[in-house]
Amino acid sequence: MITMKHYPFLDLKTVNEPYRDAMVEAMTRVVDSGWYVGGPEVEAFESALAAYCDVPYVVGLTNGLDALRLALRGYIELGRLGKGDKVMVPANTYVATVLAITDNGLVPVFVDADDMTLNMDTSRLDEYLQEGVKAIMPVHLYGRVCWDEALRDFVQRHSLLVIEDNAQAIGAVATCDGLFGTRHSGGLGHAGCFSFYPTKNVGALGDAGALATHDAELAQAVRAIRNYGSLRQYDNIYKGLNCRLDPMKAAQLTVKLPFADMENGARAKLAGIYDCYITNSLVRKPLYAEGAADSVWHQYVVRVDDRDAFRAYLLENGVETAVHYATPPYRQTCYAEYAGIDMPVSDEIARTCVSLPISRCTSLDDAMDIAEIVNGYRR
Ligand SMILES: *Cc1c(COP(=O)(O)O)cnc(C)c1O
Repeated sequence: MITMKHYPFLDLKTVNEPYRDAMVEAMTRVVDSGWYVGGPEVEAFESALAAYCDVPYVVGLTNGLDALRLALRGYIELGRLGKGDKVMVPANTYVATVLAITDNGLVPVFVDADDMTLNMDTSRLDEYLQEGVKAIMPVHLYGRVCWDEALRDFVQRHSLLVIEDNAQAIGAVATCDGLFGTRHSGGLGHAGCFSFYPTKNVGALGDAGALATHDAELAQAVRAIRNYGSLRQYDNIYKGLNCRLDPMKAAQLTVKLPFADMENGARAKLAGIYDCYITNSLVRKPLYAEGAADSVWHQYVVRVDDRDAFRAYLLENGVETAVHYATPPYRQTCYAEYAGIDMPVSDEIARTCVSLPISRCTSLDDAMDIAEIVNGYRR
């Protein structure tokens, strides 16, 4: 009997296998230190991440959503944003970006996606600008940097705060300078928000996140907010929260961060194989301008008209796929007030997108096989 080969979408045990022993050692160090909240492990990771993404301040937090909402909350506490202010955000994002806005009593202004980059359409920002917009949250979706001269010029002309959702793009490099010179994603605007959710390019064994910023005042405010609103014990300057990164997670991440570029490089190789070998005209591959290498390939997303049939065909041939995301935020039940808005490109992406396997669970040979299977798809 011939057993069909299986191509898993993602298996987190396999992803963490190369780091297992080093992480166990690091976690043992935490257990034996007697220090289980804050402290040197958290500080060491914060410094390492700051150096890696070329920003002066990093604050370790519980998860990516908390990084996003505390960035906004910090600016509210500093008086740079106020309740009811508007924040531009891509219509085509994971719901967390929008949750961070509404959680703070701010108002999202959705910007439709660009059909090529699948990110916020930076050529149409002026069309979407409204009275009361004070900030913008570019999302580097699928690992592709959302930053170019049009966006930089727009935020400078309108003096907007820029809070990047860098949950999917750690290690990415933009093709033009950020507001503070560096081209590293997460350091392009005033603040950058990281997620270390297990499936991200650098993932902890559980939830974790961080805020990176060029703004010393914001770093200070977020440090306080994550710690009940307090920088000195029993002195509460804000009505804060408890959103601290655990030393256990920080120790795991200190092990994995030095390999971020290597992991991203492995993803880029798989993407290169898909780019090169997928030739089925029913399958739209990601499109890149000549020479642009501004993605860390968190997902490899193709677009297919009859998605269900395509996914069923792949699964029959052993290939697992995923969909990121079938329902955009403005079509979620919780955002019924935005259900009427017209976002044709985002709707089209949501209807047609399919993510192919792109992780340590996929070898280069597997990617060649998957490309061949994709090429065998017929309507
Ligand atoms: C994962 C993710 C988040 C949320 O991060 P968590 O750590 O899961 O809270 C936010 N935005 C985007 C684009 C993400 O992919």
